[in-house]
Amino acid sequence: MSLKIGILALQGDVAEHAEILTILDAQITNVRRESDLTDIDGLIIPGGESTAIARLLIAYKLIDPIREKIIAGLPVWGTCAGAILLAKEVTNLDRPSLQLMDIRVTRNAFGSQIYSFEKQLHVEGINGDPLNAIFIRAPIIEDVGQDTQVLARLEQGPIVAAKQENMLATSFHPELGKDVRMHQLFLDMCVQSASSGDKYVSIER
Ligand code: GLN
Repeated sequence: MSLKIGILALQGDVAEHAEILTILDAQITNVRRESDLTDIDGLIIPGGESTAIARLLIAYKLIDPIREKIIAGLPVWGTCAGAILLAKEVTNLDRPSLQLMDIRVTRNAFGSQIYSFEKQLHVEGINGDPLNAIFIRAPIIEDVGQDTQVLARLEQGPIVAAKQENMLATSFHPELGKDVRMHQLFLDMCVQSASSGDKYVSIER
């Protein structure tokens, strides 16, 4: 089954996600307007700068259409800035965003760009060797709600990956490495959702 994955293409790591999805045989749609959301099986909100992406989401009138799709069951994965935009609660984001996922996030939790780092990370649901996770001015997930599953922590400490129903958030950048397993995990969520009958059952959030 070939999946069609939308990548929000307003700012950030769009090409890098597309490259990995292509390796995994997914079709790609760059999402810049509401009509681009039609017929996609999943949506990636890439890393970049959350304030800039939020401003463009507002300018392109995409907040409500994307929220509606996610609430209706569309699988979504936010990486880094994308995770910030998905979070219900964010410290220091100065404008509205999607605010759907039951996570509390702090932006730039490790300091400025020079404090970027890579770490071997065990992620729940990914077997074999740990992932080489790349953190660039990364957020951390301070807390998650009852229905949100923690998928990874940095050295038993801060949460850096979480999943709630059809929503996945990582504070690192799997699209910047060669490892395709995190993208495969998201595609598996999309396959499950596409083949389940309850894809468009609306959940109030
Ligand atoms: N620090 C950025 C922000 O707050 C996120 C960085 C990233 O996506 N690499 O949006």
